[in-house]
Amino acid sequence: VTAQKTPTAWLQHSQPAHAPRAHSSHKGSFGDVAVIGGAPGMSGAAMLAALAALHGGAGRVFVGLMDEDAKHAATAAHPPLMVRDITHLALNESTVVCGCGGGDAVHALMPQVLSSSQQLVLDADALNAIARDTALQSLLKKRSPRHKPTVLTPHPLEAARLLNCSAKEVQKNRLHAAQQLANTFQCVVVLKGSGSIIASPGHTPVINASGNARLATAGTGDVLAGLIGAYLARSEDPFAATCQAVFAHGQVANAWPSDAAALDAALLAASVR
Ligand code: AMP
Ligand code: MG
Repeated sequence: VTAQKTPTAWLQHSQPAHAPRAHSSHKGSFGDVAVIGGAPGMSGAAMLAALAALHGGAGRVFVGLMDEDAKHAATAAHPPLMVRDITHLALNESTVVCGCGGGDAVHALMPQVLSSSQQLVLDADALNAIARDTALQSLLKKRSPRHKPTVLTPHPLEAARLLNCSAKEVQKNRLHAAQQLANTFQCVVVLKGSGSIIASPGHTPVINASGNARLATAGTGDVLAGLIGAYLARSEDPFAATCQAVFAHGQVANAWPSDAAALDAALLAASVR
């Protein structure tokens, strides 16, 4: 498999989250995102995805947490988010981001999630559930072309589970692994890591050029999933939207000041502004 080295072509059509908006636009112009995840002890993952969707420009963001205790705290701390019971999320009216911090409990929700007609971003425990359940694998394969597109965002170990091989084998030929996943499940795939690969059936895969090892920390994958959700929610082109979101995510890491003195100066400037 060969690849494009930079996503330049896609970025020419980019609609950054904070690009000028039409004077007549309203929150309905930018799409709804519903985040599902956040098992007890893991609600932070779902909240990071939801906040990233909000900052990424989604019109409205709903979040369904599995941890009852976290719901009130989430509403109080983040008024723009709409915290809902998972059973009350409108899965057929929102771009759904599923899996972030979902734990094993997300498995039982997967048949319903995969039946949604809307765009899906499947991350973390949603991917792990699919990897160990052949019935869910068939449901995922059947989504295309009946429903709107699905984006899978595995890191190498999650990709290995889906491909039934080792993470070492995935890393040995990342382009091949990403394209194989995309073809098998008829999805857009982001194989994460240094030089994330975006692959889709019938597309030349893209190796993302932005980002750095500061992203190698817990929570950054959840932020990416939410950001992809926001970009998908207002785009007609899922492959381009995914490339743009992955690029923007890396750009934020690249813009982060590299040493303590520069960080202090940037934080001071931000607080003064
Ligand atoms: P996750 O593994 O789900 O926590 O996601 C980690 C996020 O950080 C993904 O977007 C990765 O592509 C990114 N990331 C992790 N390590 C690196 C690295 N060394 N260079 C660039 N991006 C990275
Ligand atoms: Mg992750």
